[in-house]
Amino acid sequence: RLDARFVMRWIDILDRLVVEAEPQLTEFDAAIGDADHGANMTRATCACKAVLGDVPPLTTAAAFSEVGEALAQYIGGASGPLYGAIFLALGDSVPATTDIGAGDLVAGMREALISLHNLGAAVVGDKTMVDAIAPAVAELEQLVSVGAPFPEAVAAAAEAAARGARSTIPLRARKGRAAYLGPRSEGHQDPGATSSALLFEALRLAVG
Ligand code: ADP
Ligand code: MG
Ligand code: MG
Repeated sequence: RLDARFVMRWIDILDRLVVEAEPQLTEFDAAIGDADHGANMTRATCACKAVLGDVPPLTTAAAFSEVGEALAQYIGGASGPLYGAIFLALGDSVPATTDIGAGDLVAGMREALISLHNLGAAVVGDKTMVDAIAPAVAELEQLVSVGAPFPEAVAAAAEAAARGARSTIPLRARKGRAAYLGPRSEGHQDPGATSSALLFEALRLAVG
């Protein structure tokens, strides 16, 4: 059931994965940024858990919107508003019913990617979160459109996101503070793409 409890599960798992990966996210951001991505992300998932509390909101959409507002308002750095935009778009685009369908979530993820692009103007290859999220959303849409079971489609999307994160290593950053490094940003994995892969890994675990 893709209800508000599912959103709480997704956030709970994401929080666990982000806490585990914090040293790596810090290290990656130390190489090409300001070494705060691990801290920004753990603060973000912690704030999301706090805003959701123990009693689930009435609808999946309301849960997404609460998460989006927490991220957009309270989390500093470039990534807070960008992750906020993802969840706000999910909240705005899925139907305001207690449950949503798998198709609603897939369509919502496409809207989330569009919203991310509208806010940050990054495209695939700019060495950002988009490099993990865009291929994951494409994989999800493709597999669901040919009738693959939803958990399988989400698992494939999570793998696509992880591949996308690794694909940022040779790239030169064209957005965010890493872009100031120019060619010196090459040879390092993008921290935001790395946390975005965790977003999909958490979704896989929440759905499966
Ligand atoms: P800050 O750079 O403000 O310290 P974070 O360290 O939390 O914020 O996040 C950095 C990540 O944000 C980058 O690794 C990149 O993936 C992502 N990012 C930065 N700018 C953009 C953008 N315009 N579009 C998409 N993602 C971006
Ligand atoms: Mg940073
Ligand atoms: Mg910062």
